[in-house]
Amino acid sequence: MSEKLSTQLAIIGGGPGGYAAAFMAADLGLEVTVIDQEDNPGGTCLYRGCIPSKALLHAAKIITDAREADFWGITFGEPKIDIDRLRESTDSVVQRMTQGLGQLCTARKVKYVKGLANFKDSRTLAVYKQDGREDTLAFENAIIAAGSRPAILGKPLDSPRLMNSTGALRIESVPKSLLVIGGGYIGLELGTVYATLGAKVTVVEMTGGLLPGVDRDLVKPVAQRLDTLFEDIHLNTKVKKMTEQKNGIRVDLEGPDIKQGKRIFERVLVCIGRKPNSSGLGLKNTKVQTDDRGFIVVDDQCRTSDPGIYAIGDIVGGAMLAHKASAEGRTAAEVIAGKNVAFEPMAIPAVVFTDPEIAWCGVTETQAKEQKLNVEVTRFPWAASGRATTLNRPQGLTKLITDADSDQILGMGIAGSGAGELIGEGALAIEMGALASDLDLTIHPHPTLSETLMESAAALFGQATHFHRPKKGDKNRE
Ligand code: FAD
Repeated sequence: MSEKLSTQLAIIGGGPGGYAAAFMAADLGLEVTVIDQEDNPGGTCLYRGCIPSKALLHAAKIITDAREADFWGITFGEPKIDIDRLRESTDSVVQRMTQGLGQLCTARKVKYVKGLANFKDSRTLAVYKQDGREDTLAFENAIIAAGSRPAILGKPLDSPRLMNSTGALRIESVPKSLLVIGGGYIGLELGTVYATLGAKVTVVEMTGGLLPGVDRDLVKPVAQRLDTLFEDIHLNTKVKKMTEQKNGIRVDLEGPDIKQGKRIFERVLVCIGRKPNSSGLGLKNTKVQTDDRGFIVVDDQCRTSDPGIYAIGDIVGGAMLAHKASAEGRTAAEVIAGKNVAFEPMAIPAVVFTDPEIAWCGVTETQAKEQKLNVEVTRFPWAASGRATTLNRPQGLTKLITDADSDQILGMGIAGSGAGELIGEGALAIEMGALASDLDLTIHPHPTLSETLMESAAALFGQATHFHRPKKGDKNRE
């Protein structure tokens, strides 16, 4: 029997945007209902994104570390890889974390409804349950946190050999050859996993470089390693056609270094971006507006054009990252609870979890150039870092982008092993309006990679202990 329910705050989607919003709203005293199709909250990030990909990358890193241990005189045999066990362990990580989020819902008295939500009007949702039942849920406010899905390449080929990121994360077997279409972060991360497990990986990227939008000097150490890990990387290259054959997918490639235009791959992974899940929500029954790419239009308080309906996370575009979704979710919840706040971060960090990693936040060097900002850029090479040397990973750099007049830190970029664990300090520095001298004068522990942040700041004053860069102008660290 269908039910007529009501709630103070309805949240559509239980991903990092939706559950962060729900928990904040509940902590602020609101009565909250979250609707999602999965058994527990987690969304793309936990079920088919950040968490399973990082678990697999961790497993890949173990293999790489074992292979590179011969530098220390330690040799292991070729690893025996039990793919079923790898998949089960990844699943168990996901299950532990999503169940934990389910328990947090219970602890906070957030009602979690398994179903598919669709707007009937600006104050009511239809909730379709798996058993075919349709409940209605009246709400005072709603937050749309329905996320995004993988974009499809042209006319979809109906083949089990063709995968998107979701399929690639459920590794059933390791193909002999894999074509990754798209040299963005998801393609490179998953390509790293498959290549380390033994697949011959070829990457094709439409633009002139891997990781479009990321500063080239940060990409370089990764591109150099991937050049040896991957079979081939083809830039400025397009996929013209794909055809299923008995022994694989025949792919017609067009690019400057493609000699043999038609090649057969056992499997193909398409990672060409993500699209907002805005089309199946019944938005036409509301006043919510979307842009020409389907992203919901919001203001800096996450309000849509329909009063009482908010939107957050991937579905509003911008940085399509879990932590950005969560931060917006918490802001939306605070606004609904009556707080006068806005989503105006100075820095949203981004991490590419390849080996080595790349991380950056704030203004990039490329943006600084495009916007003609008057900045100084200082680099500290990891070859000068004691810690990087003890790890036998001297390939990397930490760079600082500062305002040329005030020395205020505007941006930070790091390429190197574990860069993702370091970038939080850069985000804090930017949010707090820190000067390069603040970072330089903060004593960092030795020997750690965090010292590279301090030394990149010291380099601005020509005073990095382990790296000589003559002082430019009259910069002073006091
Ligand atoms: P989502 O996490 O997409 O959650 C939306 C939820 O809404 C989903 O559960 C969906 O099923 C549900 N939903 C949709 N429509 C309805 C409806 N009508 N009714 C009910 N429920 C609905 N980000 C990072 O920050 N770091 C990473 O390392 C990282 N790695 C990634 C790796 C991969 C392979 C992928 C694909 C993504 C990765 N991301 C990463 C991106 C990250 O997953 C997303 O940015 C994040 O999940 C967005 O959160 P969200 O809450 O906006 O939406």
